[in-house]
Amino acid sequence: MKSIMFIAPPAAGKGTQADLVIEKYNIPHISTGDILRDISKEDSELGSYVLETLSSGGLVKDEITYQLIENRLKKDDCKKGFVIDGFPRTLDQAIEYGKILERLNYSIGEVFLIDIDKDVLEKRVTGRRICENCKAIYNINSEDSKPQIESTCDECGGRLYQRNDDNVEAFNNRYELYEKKTEPIIKYYEEKGVLYHIDGNKSIDEVFKQIDDIISGVGK
Ligand code: AMP
Repeated sequence: MKSIMFIAPPAAGKGTQADLVIEKYNIPHISTGDILRDISKEDSELGSYVLETLSSGGLVKDEITYQLIENRLKKDDCKKGFVIDGFPRTLDQAIEYGKILERLNYSIGEVFLIDIDKDVLEKRVTGRRICENCKAIYNINSEDSKPQIESTCDECGGRLYQRNDDNVEAFNNRYELYEKKTEPIIKYYEEKGVLYHIDGNKSIDEVFKQIDDIISGVGK
């Protein structure tokens, strides 16, 4: 079982890198953000709560997130490994994640920390567009990832949308939360000897190469 985790500030490109890893290694991509965005569309009390929390840039309650993650990781497709993305985001979540892995008899694999400058991120946030059909990610502010036709997915022709938390105000909120709550988990995984620093200021391909070299054992 090969577990791969990304820790990165909002819009650092972890979704893009996760996609490249799952494609190459043929493992599922477990993104708490995607799971929660799907739930936010549901017409239920939980759906409204999640929608409201996502729009404000805050974190969804731990008990809800833990249950969603454990249920997802139990599925057969995760037995050969998975990329976990967006979770854990806090030290409490990291500790609980350890317990979830233990219950499922999985071990912690590699943890990639994408280091990137804040001003680069702000520019990316305002330019990020996602395909509502196949979830491909583009950036209209970046030469190497903008779509050929604005508002249309290159892959499937689906409509591109902007996440409602991809505005400067929500970004600042999320960045502040990241600094405050996520940085302690960096130390936690560093001490476990499973954390790898990745330079996220480079191109998509160069960032992927750094990650892939470690997964395949070349860069270890
Ligand atoms: P992401 O797509 O990872 O940027 O997540 C989008 C939003 O989903 C976040 O701003 C949070 O509101 C929520 N979310 C995602 N992952 C978690 C998590 N591990 N714990 C709590 N809330 C989360």
